[in-house]
Amino acid sequence: MLLKTLREQVLDANLELVRRGLVLYTFGNASGISRADGLIAIKPSGVPYEDLRPEHMVVTDLDGRIVDGTLRPSSDLDTHLELYKAFPKIGGVAHTHSEFATAWAQARKPVPCFGTTHADYFHGPVPVTDPMPPEDIEGDYEKNTGTAIINLFRDIDYERIPAVLVVNHGPFSWGPDPAAAAHNAVLLEHVARVAYRTIAINAEAGPISTDLHDKHFLRKHGSQAYYGQKKT
Ligand SMILES: [Zn+2]
Repeated sequence: MLLKTLREQVLDANLELVRRGLVLYTFGNASGISRADGLIAIKPSGVPYEDLRPEHMVVTDLDGRIVDGTLRPSSDLDTHLELYKAFPKIGGVAHTHSEFATAWAQARKPVPCFGTTHADYFHGPVPVTDPMPPEDIEGDYEKNTGTAIINLFRDIDYERIPAVLVVNHGPFSWGPDPAAAAHNAVLLEHVARVAYRTIAINAEAGPISTDLHDKHFLRKHGSQAYYGQKKT
């Protein structure tokens, strides 16, 4: 079986979305890339999660041609491919229709950074894409969804904000590997839920201060990070 380890990682990332309550039925998908091989592994389309096995993951090249696998890949494959091509340091992508992140996407509002939990993982609000023109929807829709995300990130560091809301649709997240992409999907859903509750309590709530935001993000990320145990 080609790319056995990557397939296992991708399967586990998909199952993590289920374990954390982010997907209903066959919604959602996660993928991973082997940069060395130029190949990605992605969940197949429409197969119940409880039936998924590593060999069911579909391996394609960066043009979406199936290299190994008997099932059809997730219909969102082309969005994943665009993200891998545009964001060279990512190794995994996850997509869900999780409840609170999708609510913000449907409201066409970025998830504001109200507190340190958000600041620990996302260095700023999680942005929302612009509405797609009809020709983009009728055309190569999944690829154009990827392009809309990439356009939004022209002025945003994709490593510092590892997630996005696709307008009227739902979240995509990414990370250095498939597990990190799923982890960021879970964290995004959490901060989206807490942000919703924050506004419910106080509609005038303001964002976290820049000082506190930077303190929390930078103690976990970057050259001066000191959170957790020392890496050896
Ligand atoms: Zn979707």
